[in-house]
Amino acid sequence: MRDSNHLSKRDFLKLLGGLSLGFLPLMGCFNERKPEKNTPETPASGTTTTGPENTTTPAEAVTEQDVIVLERDDARYTQYNGSYNKRIALLPKYIAVCFTDAGVCHALQLAQQQNLPVSIKSGGHSFEGFSSNNGGMVINLSQMKAVDWNDDGTVTVGPGLLLRELHDQVYAKGKLVPAGSCGGVGIAGLTLGGGYGFFSRKYGFTCDSLVDATLVKADGQVLSAASDTELLWALRGGGNGNFGVVTSLRFKTHPMPQTLNATTIKHTIGDSASFAAILQKWMNLVPQLPPEAFGAFVQNGKTLTLLFTNYGSGSMATITTAMSEGARSTSSSSSVGKPFTQALKRFYGRAEPLYFKNASCGYYKSFDDIASVAASIFDQLLAHPGLLFQVNTLGGAVASPEFEAASCYPHRSLPFLSELQGYYDRPAQESSILEGFRNIQQLVRGVGVTAQYRNYPDVEFPDWQHAYYGFNYEKLRQLKAQYDPDNRFRYPQSIEGSPAS
Ligand SMILES: Cc1cc2nc3c(=O)[nH]c(=O)nc-3n(C[C@H](O)[C@H](O)[C@H](O)COP(=O)(O)OP(=O)(O)OC[C@H]3O[C@@H](n4cnc5c(N)ncnc54)[C@H](O)[C@@H]3O)c2cc1C
Repeated sequence: MRDSNHLSKRDFLKLLGGLSLGFLPLMGCFNERKPEKNTPETPASGTTTTGPENTTTPAEAVTEQDVIVLERDDARYTQYNGSYNKRIALLPKYIAVCFTDAGVCHALQLAQQQNLPVSIKSGGHSFEGFSSNNGGMVINLSQMKAVDWNDDGTVTVGPGLLLRELHDQVYAKGKLVPAGSCGGVGIAGLTLGGGYGFFSRKYGFTCDSLVDATLVKADGQVLSAASDTELLWALRGGGNGNFGVVTSLRFKTHPMPQTLNATTIKHTIGDSASFAAILQKWMNLVPQLPPEAFGAFVQNGKTLTLLFTNYGSGSMATITTAMSEGARSTSSSSSVGKPFTQALKRFYGRAEPLYFKNASCGYYKSFDDIASVAASIFDQLLAHPGLLFQVNTLGGAVASPEFEAASCYPHRSLPFLSELQGYYDRPAQESSILEGFRNIQQLVRGVGVTAQYRNYPDVEFPDWQHAYYGFNYEKLRQLKAQYDPDNRFRYPQSIEGSPAS
């Protein structure tokens, strides 16, 4: 029978294209128009300006093999202006589809000549459209997908590579870069804002495996982050569209797991007290999961879905058994006998763009942080169909002091990351979703939870600077002033230059 108070399972699956988790979907947001070109790690022709690794590429020598600049009257403009979130309707003056560093330099020179703000787009999955703008320049890197293996076992990838392509090209070779599960997300945006997923508790965030990146500054200077410790520190969690255009990312790789086991447990939650009780139980238990395991708590209306994944030999049976008490269903799957990449495909989610409003809903230390508002969160979910509340496990290697020192990603001591997700299929439904969304945000803020994940942004977060970057924000401002003194790269929540600049 249809529950009038929330999306039916059928409606929800229809909306998410069959995805039964809170994870959003994922595949290519753009169709490829040009054959892929290998992206050089350093520009093919450059004049050295600052040292052996750092070069400036002459922007005038470019061809269509380097960049295609599209204006609004070009038939291809709409295709490259796509965003995974259909709420985003921005119209840049130029979209520069880049294939090389030289092409990026050309686009930056054009932006400078016309004094235009520059946004950078790779996978196009920004919740808030931070990879585009109105009336400015968008540097579109979606076609830079080269994958190059290095002798030391690291892999260098182009920023246009999507996670499903990472799985196909890197994971299929038996090597792992710990990233998210959603197939259409860009490796660049994911890494530069942190990047968590099934592998984080064992290997840290995606940015913790980043060992080098090529950065093209607004003035055309090309830098290698491996030879600039502060730049690498800033790109590990603070690099989204702030300092320059990242045109390649080099990752340390890890051994590829053999199998992925997944258990999905579903409950029907009848009332807010039951919701609070089961959330508390889950948050008390999951810190004991083995490091290779991941857990997600996803409440959609009265339906609670608990996902557990595990690619190691440590057992999670005690916890899944405990969480199955009173469940309406429990199902398990294993990828034994199948390629690991095949098992991941189950979590790719929907490929096509959709309307949504998602945002980080705070990091938590334990259930105590939200105990007094948990019941009210549930009431809001019931009152606003289409709204989901999700909590994901972090902890483990994420909290490593070594990673903390080497990256600007803060909040490492907080083992839970929550996310609010609102899906709808007609713009007219947005206001109800937003009302519930803001109500829950207010509840959570009211109990002092203010730390937020940069890759789950919200334009309405108060003091977003410290919510995303914590005590590292002041240093990031200084680096912004150093690398982008003219504030060429800017969007509503880009890092501000130093007050003294
Ligand atoms: C369906 C879905 C699933 C997701 N799943 C996960 C998940 O499992 N784990 C997780 O951690 N996050 C997840 N996210 C959040 C995701 O990490 C961010 O949205 C990420 O920023 C997207 O990167 P992108 O390249 O696809 O997006 P874009 O919109 O292209 O870029 C996002 C931001 O990064 C900047 N940027 C992009 N490329 C570059 C570059 N080359 N150089 C400099 N700046 C750049 C942009 O300017 C923008 O600010 C998910 C998001 C969605 C929509």
